[in-house]
Amino acid sequence: MIDNYINITTLNDFLFCPYSIYLHNAFMDMDGDVFVAKPQVRGKAAHKEIDERTLSVEPDDVQSLKVFSIELGLVGVIDLYRKNERHLIEFKYKIGDSLFLGQKAQLWAQYFCLSEMGYQVEKISVYEKSTSIFHDVKIPDNDDKQVLTDLIRKFREFDFSQPMEVNTKKCTHCIYCNLCHFTDYDNVYNSD
Ligand code: SF4
Repeated sequence: MIDNYINITTLNDFLFCPYSIYLHNAFMDMDGDVFVAKPQVRGKAAHKEIDERTLSVEPDDVQSLKVFSIELGLVGVIDLYRKNERHLIEFKYKIGDSLFLGQKAQLWAQYFCLSEMGYQVEKISVYEKSTSIFHDVKIPDNDDKQVLTDLIRKFREFDFSQPMEVNTKKCTHCIYCNLCHFTDYDNVYNSD
């Protein structure tokens, strides 16, 4: 049942904080400008050409493709697949010194979805829009697939009735911190 499939982007949110997924879903119908901060605005801008399919691409390239994996129970959308180079590309406005596990897991998930759908992928990269640099990511091996599978299992088994570990450093970078009963912190974006 497609209803039971996990959206790939939610895995990254889950690693950031499971409760943020609850708050996102609870307030998703509100004005989008209320719960966005600079990173989200820039992230949206980095995806604008992809979302609107206005990026200049080769005829065989595929933009904004819906993907799924029956084996892993995942659905999502990939930004760009360059067919001639068998190259999967994710667009980000800015990445730090290195990719977080959640960002890597997102790319691994996209890779497994595309592979299951019959696309050949030999290269994975994140295109950092702020620097115009491609950051290559290793094709996932069996160990990486196990990490992804464990993450999916933890997501499915997560129990909100159990005590949750709160990382206040993350709270200060969470757009929902003013709504969240787990913290009294303000986020860094409100003082921008
Ligand atoms: S404020 Fe902290 S605990 Fe609350 S949703 Fe955000 S990251 Fe999670």
